[in-house]
Amino acid sequence: MIRLKSIKLWLLFTATLFITNVYAQPSERANYQGPAPKYIFYFIGDGMGLSQANTAEAYLGAIHQKNGIQKLNLTSLPKQGFYTTYAVDRFITGSAAAGTALSTGTKTTINTIGMDAKRQKPLKTIAEIAKEKDYKIGIVSSVSIDHATPASFYAHQPTRNMYYDISLDLSKSGFNYFAGGGFKHPEGDGKIDAKNSMSNFGMGDSVDLDQKETNSMRIAESRGYRFTNTVEDFNALKKGDDKIISIAPALASGAALPYYIDQNGKSDISLADFTQKGIELLDNKNGFFMMVEGGKIDWACHANDAATAIQEVIQFDNAVAVALDFYKKHPKQTLIIVAGDHETGGMGMGFSGSHYESAFALLQHQNISYENFSNLITDYRKNNTEKYNIEDGLALVKKHFGLGDAEKGLELSEFELQKLSIAFDKSMNYNEEMKKDDQFYLLYGSYDPFTITACHILSNKAGIGWTSFSHTAAPIPIRSIGVGADLFTGFFDNTDVPKNLIKLIENR
Ligand SMILES: [Zn+2]
Repeated sequence: MIRLKSIKLWLLFTATLFITNVYAQPSERANYQGPAPKYIFYFIGDGMGLSQANTAEAYLGAIHQKNGIQKLNLTSLPKQGFYTTYAVDRFITGSAAAGTALSTGTKTTINTIGMDAKRQKPLKTIAEIAKEKDYKIGIVSSVSIDHATPASFYAHQPTRNMYYDISLDLSKSGFNYFAGGGFKHPEGDGKIDAKNSMSNFGMGDSVDLDQKETNSMRIAESRGYRFTNTVEDFNALKKGDDKIISIAPALASGAALPYYIDQNGKSDISLADFTQKGIELLDNKNGFFMMVEGGKIDWACHANDAATAIQEVIQFDNAVAVALDFYKKHPKQTLIIVAGDHETGGMGMGFSGSHYESAFALLQHQNISYENFSNLITDYRKNNTEKYNIEDGLALVKKHFGLGDAEKGLELSEFELQKLSIAFDKSMNYNEEMKKDDQFYLLYGSYDPFTITACHILSNKAGIGWTSFSHTAAPIPIRSIGVGADLFTGFFDNTDVPKNLIKLIENR
């Protein structure tokens, strides 16, 4: 008996050895011997797991009457891998801990930006290392430029919510190009918190601040940065312009770029435009490192809004297409990696109520994001306090989600009408106390009940299910092409991504 057990153990042991040898993980691979990529694109889809990209492909396939999927650029990259994302103190990570893992190669705690798990020591980021190696550095995001993911590449703060201190770290970084959304809290509370400034951690140069000036955007100017926030000024930016902070002309809530679905088919300056401009400004004989985040895939998935999320994935993919065009001109010098920080919403390509059926094309009838629809409902409530009528609510979901329109294949069942009616009552009588109720939270999260119900019904009719209003721990795919892309294949951990990037450039 004992003998049999030990034989089994021995077999298991040798099998494990064999597997480890054949499928060595990237972090265990021999030191990289090839050349360093001159141009590095590091794309991060916030909240983009396998489902988000796959659903966008299924949607594109469906609206173009193709069987199956229509490939995105990002899924067409030849090298693919997966990684785990857990944080030090929580299995399901957040954007700060995941961003720090993806920027420094060290796992940290929830909400921590560019610092160790105890929030004591700053961790050097891949962007800072690349800067030391004479790459020009660009940081681009569709959400505010001081948000957790972009901040993880230039800031070192104990919590992501210290937007003011993060914005001071931004101009202290000396990076060459910041672009996309704006600043969330540039005024701060009127004074610089010396305790939390980066020089206190021994990072960066100690820059003499004009103590009378506290607005972090003005401080950035005193450190040599120039802002643009119009289409004309953006278009006028040209090769050689350095230390640029380019903010989108029209910002939505959270100082982010507006959702694509809310822009009637044309954005002033898209994520792809910001990426293209980054190439123009950063290209030089020593090359560049550019991080580009699609930040609102996550926000849309928190709200379980499939149609909006898909459009954000497509916008993100358009930015990847810009990098791919550049790659085709410099294939022997360029590396593109497309990663994600975590999955959001537990988006599933299948829903119990729709059995085996999928109807992704139905999502094209939604013409507004959950956010703007929610604003319409809030306005309606304010104007109709005592005399609200479900018929008005149903007219709004018909106009903006197509729900109830039989010609579009979106007739509502009794059950769906009932769900909408209950949710509408809750929306019209909404108060903060409601959120504390377990059933309310399971049905609507912390969102407007009527809006979430409309998003759920349309998702479900398309054959999409959701498990959460938060992130999930699903492993995240990474796709790559170019110099050193082999290092990003297999199944590994999120911290291996920057570790391998460091390997690629450390001997340059
Ligand atoms: Zn999130």
